[in-house]
Amino acid sequence: MEEIKNNEAQASERQLNFLEEIIESDLASGKHKSILTRFPPEPNGYLHIGHAKSICLNFGLAKKYGGKTNIRFDDTNPTKEDVEYVDSIKEDVKWLGFEWANEFYASDYFEQLYEWACDMIRKGLAYVDDQSQEEIRANRGTVSQPGVNSPYRDRSVEENLKLFQEMREGKYKEGEKVLRAKIDMAHPNMMFRDPLMYRINFSHHHRTGDKWCIYPMYDYAHGQSDSIEGITHSICTLEFDVHRPLYDWFIEKLEIFPSHQYEFARLNLTYTVMSKRKLLELVRNNFVTGWDDPRMPTICGIRRRGYTPESIRLFAEKVGVAKRDNTIDLSLLEWCVREDLNKRANRYMSVLDPVKLTITNWPEGQVEEFAAPLNPADPDGAKRIVPFTGELYIERDDFMEEPPKKYFRLKPGGEVRLKYSYIIKCEEVVKDENGNIIEIKCTYDPTSKPGAGEWRSVKGTIHWVSVQHAKEIEVRLVDRLFTEPFMDSIPEGKDYKDYLNPDSMRIVTGYAEPALLEDNSGIAVQFERLGYFIQDKDSTPEKPVFNKTTGLKDTFKK
Ligand code: ATP
Ligand code: MG
Repeated sequence: MEEIKNNEAQASERQLNFLEEIIESDLASGKHKSILTRFPPEPNGYLHIGHAKSICLNFGLAKKYGGKTNIRFDDTNPTKEDVEYVDSIKEDVKWLGFEWANEFYASDYFEQLYEWACDMIRKGLAYVDDQSQEEIRANRGTVSQPGVNSPYRDRSVEENLKLFQEMREGKYKEGEKVLRAKIDMAHPNMMFRDPLMYRINFSHHHRTGDKWCIYPMYDYAHGQSDSIEGITHSICTLEFDVHRPLYDWFIEKLEIFPSHQYEFARLNLTYTVMSKRKLLELVRNNFVTGWDDPRMPTICGIRRRGYTPESIRLFAEKVGVAKRDNTIDLSLLEWCVREDLNKRANRYMSVLDPVKLTITNWPEGQVEEFAAPLNPADPDGAKRIVPFTGELYIERDDFMEEPPKKYFRLKPGGEVRLKYSYIIKCEEVVKDENGNIIEIKCTYDPTSKPGAGEWRSVKGTIHWVSVQHAKEIEVRLVDRLFTEPFMDSIPEGKDYKDYLNPDSMRIVTGYAEPALLEDNSGIAVQFERLGYFIQDKDSTPEKPVFNKTTGLKDTFKK
């Protein structure tokens, strides 16, 4: 007891999560010499941030303990699966920075699973049932009431073997027959009330083609696939804990390698839906432009939005491993990407809501160039050249005609520094006939040039772009897809689509300093004072397109 306590104390000192504790104990006791985990996606949709959590966990644990991870496509339902999804899943796992030891498919095991099913029949542990789906459901009973035995439950081994083979040969129609495990129709765990092992399905399979017309159910396929591969720790989400006894039962009855299942809480995020069914519906009904729409919580969507693999791995680490379901604040994910990009992203100036600023005492036609660091964390590192002239764009909200007290940006008679450049003073505001400001006339202080003479400081600094040099860009102001934080508990009678954010993607025309279009960092850049943005694949030479990754302001409360 003392010893256990000590171990516990040590474990918590090193802040192990419960899975790490189990693995360390299994390695210490010699139960396993090395560990093998797997990531088992069903190729019926694109991966989302919840899957990313599972990937980081499975690959991360194996890496930490010198083990390996397989990727296994759980392709046992040909109706919904497709190679398009297989390809995207592999791309996403690689992008996250992980390498699998083996690429396997549950369909690789169909022959073995079939053989084992025949063994189960021979052992008197499985039978072919002719009841319809409705009858099976009705006869299953309820939590408080036992089920009713199928009239076909006591078929002989020979008859079952023959019928099962005929099912495989395509002699029966979909739904006409199923193979069930013969356990106990009165079992308190509903999972044990003669669970389905095989059903007939004549759909074309993306790998096995038309070879099979019977397919194993999840509960019969998953544990056995783990066992075939020698998976030591089969990690899945909490809703599978009711399946675990059945997972163990099949392995025990088949006397095969004892893989074990462990459950952790699935990741939920505020302002986000993650069920593949809902994501597919958003795509099919054009609520978004595709699986990789930058508003989507899919890995390809957040990649297109400018999230980095580093930021997702950091997020997975910060979220940790919980035993109880909870919902993580989306702002934590945003914090993680800022944390990463702040260190690495190149800086450029862009104006997204421009108003023209004219410097009246600027020598006509003169162009001056300022060298500005690409990253302020490295002031002596690489620089970009920013051209400066007497006609600039500044951000409309960096000027106020009647400012509140502590407004340090540009105001009538006030001074600000133009970033990397001179101090200017607002002399006059020009308006159109409707009273809209169309031009701000300023003078500049030639002695305020950075690096020349004594540094004079003023309270405000604003960004700018030279009109003559400005590059026009389309900017997609990507925002949360939903307006409601807790999308899992929306009121009865409401649909999740009722909460789509109508402003989830505003499109504006911006003006950028020319160096932006020469950036080849491959990651998002920072538009100074505005946020992080990444060039989108919709860009053309005539019209570069940028997606907003996230703003600069941290809203995450620790
Ligand atoms: P969905 O419910 O979104 O359709 P799924 O669980 O059916 O997802 P799979 O392809 O079966 O999708 O999932 C592959 C792995 O990813 C499983 O081990 C599953 O437990 C895990 N996973 C899926 N969603 C989450 C999530 N939100 N958080 C953590 N892990 C997840
Ligand atoms: Mg699943």
